[in-house]
Amino acid sequence: MRKRINKTYILIGGKRMKVEIIAVGTELLMGQIANTNAQFIARKLNELGFDHYVQTVIGDNPERLKKVTAQAEQRSDIIIYTGGLGPTRDDLTKQTISAYLNQPLIHDEVGMETIKANFKGRIMTENNLAMGLTFQAGHTFPNDVGQALGTAIEDDNHTYILLPGPPSEMKHMFNHYVADYLLDQYQNDIVLTSKYLHYFGIGESQLADTIDDLIMSQENPTVAIYFGNFMVTVRLTAAGKNEAETKPLLEDLATAINARLADYYVGEGENLGINEVLVEKLIDREQTIAFAESFTGGLAAKKVVDAPGASKVLQGSAVTYTETAKADVLNVQPQTLKTYGMVSAETATEMAENVRDLYQSDFGISFTGVAGPDDMEGKEVGTVYIGIAEAGQETKVLTPALRGSRQNIQYRSVYSAYFDIIKK
Ligand code: ATP
Ligand code: MG
Repeated sequence: MRKRINKTYILIGGKRMKVEIIAVGTELLMGQIANTNAQFIARKLNELGFDHYVQTVIGDNPERLKKVTAQAEQRSDIIIYTGGLGPTRDDLTKQTISAYLNQPLIHDEVGMETIKANFKGRIMTENNLAMGLTFQAGHTFPNDVGQALGTAIEDDNHTYILLPGPPSEMKHMFNHYVADYLLDQYQNDIVLTSKYLHYFGIGESQLADTIDDLIMSQENPTVAIYFGNFMVTVRLTAAGKNEAETKPLLEDLATAINARLADYYVGEGENLGINEVLVEKLIDREQTIAFAESFTGGLAAKKVVDAPGASKVLQGSAVTYTETAKADVLNVQPQTLKTYGMVSAETATEMAENVRDLYQSDFGISFTGVAGPDDMEGKEVGTVYIGIAEAGQETKVLTPALRGSRQNIQYRSVYSAYFDIIKK
């Protein structure tokens, strides 16, 4: 079968970001408060799809803060600090990281206005101004519910994000500003590759149920299931540094999924049509096909002709709508039509076998049935007989129970026949 290329979105670079959290505060080390900020940030990182392997708690001590930062740089791309942005003597995170990176701080104008406004009528001391500091060459996160500004700086392939300690301020800042900032960094640096797997003859929910544990047990690739083009499609999307990293992730999951859904598998590739797979299979097997169509009105032939390579496989199609046409063109016995009716397994069998003879093809496929809206010969709408005659094989008749519109019944019948041949 021809190789289908799965869609790959290549975004700039090719790197999956590792994020590390450093909570600063002697109170945390003393056990006076629980590190709920780290818990909150960790959960958010997980939601946003970042790798997160290390958390550190450290006291208000500049030397140890520098030391732990140097270690964090070895294993992470983004370092998030929380705590120590306030006005007191022990609040040293900004000053310490500034000195360590040799990245100057400035007073953010907008931030300073807010701080000054808050101190209206009260004496504001120099140390309060420290809360309005941000990295000169960096990024500012406003503090809508407090005063100390958050700030971030990118330096030598690392990003340093400094957030306030009070949980209400930190959470608000994270949700309103930091998450977007992080996503901007992330999206610029990864490759997303998708694989599309298509299944026929199984419902969306039954399929989802069959692979539920596989979906639940992993986050990369992500899995989306949807219905379209009369098939259920499973889209797997893997994130990674490059395709060499995403491809095996996709392959492994696709193999696990197909191990359970092999009976329904049509093929893979974005926008794949079941008609294309049929034509590819027949070309591979060097087989030809012909159709005897009634209620499908030529659809079976039309969808084959739509696929590249059709001329190698399609011999012909006879649209025999009336009883006379079935008798005259396809040589269906009057006795058969009289005894069993036009919509019957017996008529479908003769149509399929005779059209195969007529066009000298490997397969003869027939469609007779009631596509609606009215019942026929006492048979309900959706009753269809699909005859499949193959050289050297006993002719079989498919009788899928179909519902829905006239068009729906026509398409499902045609695709049921295609699928049966694909699966041979
Ligand atoms: P402030 O302006 O209030 O001084 P700050 O940014 O300097 O804020 P800290 O002084 O380190 O932050 O902490 C202020 C308060 O925030 C702490 O007393 C504590 O209640 C809370 N806090 C700090 N860090 C954490 C944390 N990691 N988890 C939960 N709460 C924290
Ligand atoms: Mg403080």
